[in-house]
Amino acid sequence: MRAADLLVPRPEGLYCPPGDFHVDPTRPVARALVTHAHSDHATGGHGAVLATRETLDIMAIRLGDGFAARTEEAALGMPQRIGGVTATFHPAGHVLGSAQIAVERAGFRIVASGDYKRTPDPTCAAFEPVPCEVFITEATFGLPVFRHPAPLDEIRRLLASLAQFPERTHLVGVYALGKAQRVLRLLRDAGHDAPVYLHGALRRLCDYYVSRGIDLGSLADATLARGTARDFAGTIVLGPPSAFEGPWVRRFADPLVAFASGWMQVRARARQRGVELPLVVSDHCDWTGLTETIAELAPAEVWVTHGREEALVRWCALQGIPARPLHLVGYEDEEAD
Ligand SMILES: [Zn+2]
Repeated sequence: MRAADLLVPRPEGLYCPPGDFHVDPTRPVARALVTHAHSDHATGGHGAVLATRETLDIMAIRLGDGFAARTEEAALGMPQRIGGVTATFHPAGHVLGSAQIAVERAGFRIVASGDYKRTPDPTCAAFEPVPCEVFITEATFGLPVFRHPAPLDEIRRLLASLAQFPERTHLVGVYALGKAQRVLRLLRDAGHDAPVYLHGALRRLCDYYVSRGIDLGSLADATLARGTARDFAGTIVLGPPSAFEGPWVRRFADPLVAFASGWMQVRARARQRGVELPLVVSDHCDWTGLTETIAELAPAEVWVTHGREEALVRWCALQGIPARPLHLVGYEDEEAD
């Protein structure tokens, strides 16, 4: 069995010839297996989509009920026969519903991990290491310089700022799927019980997380309809990054702009965005997470899908693990860092 007989990179995404399906295709295909619902991995218009219950639900929330002609739910850990292969979904620890997809034939297993992280995150199931011959990894933060601090410490910096500037509205930029809910959960874990206000674009996915049993505490809408800007003084308001480029920010009392993203480790990016309080909270592995995961799995081969591939490929070579970049296009990761 050669790896290339099981999964091959194509312009529209990874394709499995014996199973006749794609993994995370970026263009419409007959049958797609989808790792998670971020828009660069989960697109509409496929004939059939196989994904976890949560990923299917979130795709329907974001893309509409008719996002695929047919949907099938993949239960975690349950092998499923597709054509000449077996596919099994395993948790990836990235966002709610996120999964790695193990594709297997004649005892030869390739794991397409999608996006993943190893840092504990109570808003989704933890990454499960799956032994495999070929491990396919992302490399969003695949440079030795990327080391993410403990997320709870970053959230404590936000709360310290709130205590220091009680008159200012603390506006926190968060991506709608994953980051918003993780920041809310971290705030609660850090002891912040006050209501947190949400931009309208975040509401549906937060409500969905709550419906799946993830306690996000007291949430309220950040609308001025029933009050004035002063009402938000000393509160935390979450909004999508796009809202920070418009007039929305100016509604609030003396706004202090924070942004929660792995990219906030790059100070130039924070300055570029006009972020006063950068919070390094990532839903991806940092360099340590990537290299420790590969060392733990000890696969015969590593394929790198997207991000900063070169350093990780080189690191693998130094460990004696053959590795290659797949140069797949379309996985931007702007949405979910
Ligand atoms: Zn993602």
